[in-house]
Amino acid sequence: MTFRATVLTLFPEMFPGPLGASLAGRALADGAWSIEARDIRASATGRHRPVDDSPAGGGPGMVLRADVLAAAIDAAAPPGDSRPRLLMSPRGRPLTQARVRDLAAGEGVLIVAGRFEGVDERIIAARDLEEVSIGDYVLSGGEIAAMAVLDAVVRLLPGVMGNSASATSESFADGLLEYPQYTRPQVFEDRPIPEILVSGDHGKIAKWRKAEALRLTRDRRPDLLSTPESTKPDV
Ligand code: SAH
Repeated sequence: MTFRATVLTLFPEMFPGPLGASLAGRALADGAWSIEARDIRASATGRHRPVDDSPAGGGPGMVLRADVLAAAIDAAAPPGDSRPRLLMSPRGRPLTQARVRDLAAGEGVLIVAGRFEGVDERIIAARDLEEVSIGDYVLSGGEIAAMAVLDAVVRLLPGVMGNSASATSESFADGLLEYPQYTRPQVFEDRPIPEILVSGDHGKIAKWRKAEALRLTRDRRPDLLSTPESTKPDV
């Protein structure tokens, strides 16, 4: 089954962009997923095809029109298209690995990338959009945010990651940050690899990794330990 991504944007030429390279690019070429970037402007009418207008009530910048966005969404997702519809937005619910996993388990996603000051509020309820944020900072447009969502989803699609075990041990998979990783050389600028990792004792290694994951999470992201998603390992 091919995961079908549709992005509505004023800059379709930005896609697939970085998603055309490396892991996601190979998966795209292999048909594990597809992407269609649709120009919102194609749904605008009138001689100059305006997609935006000044904010009602005054204030700086421009706002994407609800009628233009509605036409773009309706053209991209005809009745019966049951894919989730995301609106990239700094006001949205922060993206989590759990939401990414849910999306990857579905048939695809439609993503609206905002620009300017954002979109007319009425489109959100009118077309049942789920506002999703990729962090507490403001980008100039939703395209890079959409790429972040898609990159996170695509790597979880069946057959995309060479070693699927790495998806179960990585950060957030179990509600914890990942343990530190090392590789050759055994000594780098006087810094050796922790002895336990070269001991060959797999039981001890697993225990050390769990303890390190817990320590890092406590230090850096104690909020993760209080979410219901996390399963606290007993170490
Ligand atoms: N005036 C808006 C910001 C608009 S930024 C506000 O203060 O909330 C323009 C577009 O960039 C947004 O419509 C959204 O699609 C995208 N964007 C900016 N920051 C984002 C973030 N942190 N997460 C997801 N999308 C973001």
